[in-house]
Amino acid sequence: MDRDLWKAMQNLNIGSNLQPLRLSRDTQRRNATANRLSLVVRGLNPAHQNLTGMRNTLPKAWRLHDRVRGQINDDGTIQFFFTEEHNLLSVIDRGPWSFKDWMVIMDPWYRRGNPNFLTTISFWVQIYNIPNEYRNQEVVEEIGRELGHQEGLRIVEPTRDNLSEVWVRIRFDAYQPLTFTRYIHFEEGRDQVLLRFEYERLKKFCVTCGRLTHERMECGHVLPQPQQLIEQNEEEQLCQQINLQQQDQEQALAEGEQLMVEKEEAESPIEQVDHDEEENLDQIHIAEYMQDVTQPLLNQGTPVSIPGISCPTTTFEIGSTSGADRGSKRKFEDIISEDSYPARRQRIEETNDEDGLVVAIRPPPEP
Ligand SMILES: [Zn+2]
Repeated sequence: MDRDLWKAMQNLNIGSNLQPLRLSRDTQRRNATANRLSLVVRGLNPAHQNLTGMRNTLPKAWRLHDRVRGQINDDGTIQFFFTEEHNLLSVIDRGPWSFKDWMVIMDPWYRRGNPNFLTTISFWVQIYNIPNEYRNQEVVEEIGRELGHQEGLRIVEPTRDNLSEVWVRIRFDAYQPLTFTRYIHFEEGRDQVLLRFEYERLKKFCVTCGRLTHERMECGHVLPQPQQLIEQNEEEQLCQQINLQQQDQEQALAEGEQLMVEKEEAESPIEQVDHDEEENLDQIHIAEYMQDVTQPLLNQGTPVSIPGISCPTTTFEIGSTSGADRGSKRKFEDIISEDSYPARRQRIEETNDEDGLVVAIRPPPEP
């Protein structure tokens, strides 16, 4: 008999007139408890994150593979069932996590009725270039609010060997572009300052639009042209022109530095010979990937400013001769030289031949 016909014959209503089945109270209670202690996870780039691999690998990355059970849901999410609530909370606290170099988002199952359920991600963000006199909780909180919902804040005083550090833990919409730079007017009559934001544990993202959901080659977003960025307001027009000039200068400096790096590499052929083919490909990929991480994202949005303050005629960046270069080169060096990672960037790695690599970095230590 034809298979479809066979199935159709069984699609009858015989039995619908019987007494409805009822789950026993014990089963209901155990099911509710299991769901309450579960975490729903979704990959931000599903095309590169197969669900079976993610289900098998994430618990190992969490060091909880013997205490967590994963279930793939029909909607493309994975639900991880914990036995202890503190383990669930620990996973959230140690996040964000990635699988196959793309970030994943997670939410406790009990938040499923919330409008922003499974749409946000939380990073520790280090803020650079805040002048000493503004390095305090109130100012940092105000800056943090521009990035998203603040979940934590830490200001580290400088020591003889280390510069000061300003960190904010920010939760924001995982489907919106990341912000890497932002001009700020700290006070009237002073030059505006270009703040830089570095995201701890950030993995791949689109260097064209700054989103976590796709690669540059797959980007369908078009950045506004400089002409479109110019607002009708005359004062804002002036600000935009200044920003563009600054961008050109930084581009020129970055290109100059890039040439210097290439020249140094050319003069050190031994290093290149020592790399096997796979390593070379990795480095080429990383170099290509990081080369313009900063530039396309510069000057998005208008500067943060205190109302009533006019746009100054010059801009500068504290502690750097070339802001764009500093950001991109630092990230590049950090990635290719893991040994140079400071302790707070210690990596946790789990390798699985079938499932790929999960990498997370431990959160910054408490001061
Ligand atoms: Zn994009």
